[in-house]
Amino acid sequence: MISNNAGATIYPVDASQPLPRLLVKHGRVIDPANGVDDILNVAIENGAIVGVSRSEPAAFEGAQTIDAEGAWVVPGLMDMHVHLREPGREDKETIATGTRAAAAGGFTAVACMPNTNPVLDEESKIRYVLQRAEGCASRVFPIGAITKNSEGDELAPFGEMAAAGARAFSDDGVSVAKSNIMRNALNYSKAFDAPIICHCEDKVLSYRGHMNEGVVSTRLGIRGIPIIAEEIVTARDILMAEYTGARIHIAHVSTAGCVRMIRDAKKRGVRVTAETCPHYFTLIDADVGMYDTNKKMNPPLRTDSDRSAVIEGLADGTIDVIASDHAPHVSEEKDVEFDAAAFGVVGLETSLAAVLTCLVNKDILMLADVVEKMSLNPNRILSLPGGTLSVGAVADVTIIDPAASWKVDSRNFFSKSRNTAFEGFQFKGLARATILGGRLVFERKG
Ligand SMILES: [Zn+2]
Repeated sequence: MISNNAGATIYPVDASQPLPRLLVKHGRVIDPANGVDDILNVAIENGAIVGVSRSEPAAFEGAQTIDAEGAWVVPGLMDMHVHLREPGREDKETIATGTRAAAAGGFTAVACMPNTNPVLDEESKIRYVLQRAEGCASRVFPIGAITKNSEGDELAPFGEMAAAGARAFSDDGVSVAKSNIMRNALNYSKAFDAPIICHCEDKVLSYRGHMNEGVVSTRLGIRGIPIIAEEIVTARDILMAEYTGARIHIAHVSTAGCVRMIRDAKKRGVRVTAETCPHYFTLIDADVGMYDTNKKMNPPLRTDSDRSAVIEGLADGTIDVIASDHAPHVSEEKDVEFDAAAFGVVGLETSLAAVLTCLVNKDILMLADVVEKMSLNPNRILSLPGGTLSVGAVADVTIIDPAASWKVDSRNFFSKSRNTAFEGFQFKGLARATILGGRLVFERKG
């Protein structure tokens, strides 16, 4: 059992212990896959959902109850874009600490990017991550690399990685620069019904840039990353998906032009899905302020009009998924000059709150939309069965307190790293409890 100073506790997952009978009582159950939005009881037995009903199931007397009065009960959330840093940089995060951060943020599953050291580019490395994830506080779905060592030259062995459990392929951190390699990767991926997740960045155009190129970067005297660096590769990858008939998922969309291109591509029937991250619908380049390195990420925070376009893309369904791009860094890599600081911010423990505060409470997204973008859609994109509260489904459940008002204090994070863009932010709404495979793994009291 691990607790923080804010009344939150992670419970160990001990497979040798019997699965409890759990009754989640009187919560507002939101399950868009089944068209459910009602005050209901959720009964859990042997790790599965055995009943969702208005009346209390009689056979459940004596079960462990979780009072969800005033709370929302949703299918376990999934963050399909995180960096767990293991193997290689266990000083920043481990699979154990990253999954604790996930559980505390309401996530029962994460998909982790392969840009570890070594890169996850073969079967044994995928297996290593899965083995390390056993008994952890959330499920972990490793993403395999597109190319060996993510160097962009030679395709990694998709077949053996898929057989080992890889559900998608990505060279996240870089784009596959050579279009012929990207074409081969897309054709190859079709055999496995696994999407290619595209980090869209022309490294020649973004070379030595540290924030969005614009008036703010000029004023601060920082070399900029132009929107075209992201948009030109987004355009190429959409064209490539259309040409090959393969399936792509565009990671961390940050510009208005990308939102427009994805919208148009979907209308044409291109097999493209897309994600954005909380920082792109909450913050803009001006928030870099006086060289705040915790506002430095890749792609960078863009302008107000880009932020508005991202929000519009979320509202109209162009953007299917909200993922955190959780990117832990040690303070030595952030407490330095802006130009020298690492790209990326942690996000697992603030993502849900940012969504609730900035999208739901402002009536931009309905609750069912949130469940789709943070649970159902990522599961569908990765061809996983999760994201529903159907009877018979694995009991991955998130209980959300919509009224809790709280201030972000990174000292309370379960993550090993503290590099949040939201330090001191006042948010409304957070995960109250997380149930993984029928076991309570996280609970917040008070
Ligand atoms: Zn990326």
